[in-house]
Amino acid sequence: LAQQSHSSHQTIVKLSPKVAFGGEELVIIGGPCAVESLEQMETVAQKLSTASVQALRGGVYKPRTSPYAFQGMGEEGLEILAKLRSRYNMPVITEVMSISQIEIVAAHADMLQIGSRNMQNFDLLKALGQAGKPILLKRGLAATIEEFVMAAEYILSHGNLDVVLCERGIRSFDNYTRNVLDLAAVAALKQITHLPVIVDPSHAVGKRELVAPMAKAAIACGADGLIIECHPEPEKSISDARQALALEDMVNLVDNLKPIAAAV
Ligand code: PEP
Ligand code: MN
Repeated sequence: LAQQSHSSHQTIVKLSPKVAFGGEELVIIGGPCAVESLEQMETVAQKLSTASVQALRGGVYKPRTSPYAFQGMGEEGLEILAKLRSRYNMPVITEVMSISQIEIVAAHADMLQIGSRNMQNFDLLKALGQAGKPILLKRGLAATIEEFVMAAEYILSHGNLDVVLCERGIRSFDNYTRNVLDLAAVAALKQITHLPVIVDPSHAVGKRELVAPMAKAAIACGADGLIIECHPEPEKSISDARQALALEDMVNLVDNLKPIAAAV
């Protein structure tokens, strides 16, 4: 299903009446790694809603390496996202880590994100077939392109055709960057599937000064959009502070993408 009629057909995944992945317009998703407070998210939404950023991100269920690290605001965070969603008329995207979270997240968000660590959580993928919301499927930390496509296949074959793929870097030997951004995978996925493909340069590089060049490169090689972490006070971010962009830098970056997109 993921691979059928690749060259002749491009799937459009609608996020809201005005925002769709895979069409003419780039879709830019911005926001912090984690929802930390209403004030934080309000500042983000206020700034990004005035720029060409169509959707808000923010994790409320966080897959942290350490069980002692902040695990996310949970339902309180979902309420914050839902509030801003209607206040700023911006769709919101947030991560689901388990089957038991699908229902409540689907009731508050416009798109469910499946993180890298869950890309091959097959029971979760099957359950997403009936989630009734579009899915943002992130590539596993060490997943091959074939494994990534087959993970999408689980969701599609269980009844949900609204899947967007997200390249977010893979593990390699060099830890100068957090991961290695596989831009060839973006071009390949665009050729072998009909699904929209976006890029997360933030988790790929892990360093804010490398986010903008990789965001531009992603658009140049055909990505349908980007998901980028930004924060009102980047260095104070509770999680992923090192890669968070200042809101001003986020807005400037997004403005600089248009000519690149127009040239592709
Ligand atoms: C995230 O987007 O917040 C995240 C945890 O990303 P990934 O699953 O790609 O590591
Ligand atoms: Mn993060």
